[in-house]
Amino acid sequence: MNYNGHRNGGIVTSVAVASVVAFYTHNIVATLISAVSAFIFALYPDMDIHSTPRKKFLPIGLISVIVLYLFGHHLESVILVGLLIVPMTQRHRGIMHSILGMVLVSFAWNYMVSGLLPTTELNGYLYGVSAIAGYLTHLLLDTHFRLV
Ligand SMILES: [Zn+2]
Repeated sequence: MNYNGHRNGGIVTSVAVASVVAFYTHNIVATLISAVSAFIFALYPDMDIHSTPRKKFLPIGLISVIVLYLFGHHLESVILVGLLIVPMTQRHRGIMHSILGMVLVSFAWNYMVSGLLPTTELNGYLYGVSAIAGYLTHLLLDTHFRLV
């Protein structure tokens, strides 16, 4: 699937995720972050190749790393560096297009985002599950499922 297909899949998934999260939480911040998480990770797996997602996420991500670091979120900035760099060290449709990659990346994302937000009962898993929804959309549209 090409960029436009993944972008459209990401939009559909993020609207679906936002609807479910809004319905159950009535929390606008949680809804927005969940929707953004789903959208980002519907595009993220193609960071393992020279692609539009890489061109867009790298500059935004690097600026975010600097901002996080300057505001004292050192652990979160290191996690974000990892999320940006690791895909570039992998071959296309390797681990970044696998169930294991999806779980590891979504766990790291959930940990990072939860660390930036005030603690609520939502932080435990919501943003990781939202990321998985987007990531699964990408793997489905690529019709490419690997375990590892
Ligand atoms: Zn892909």
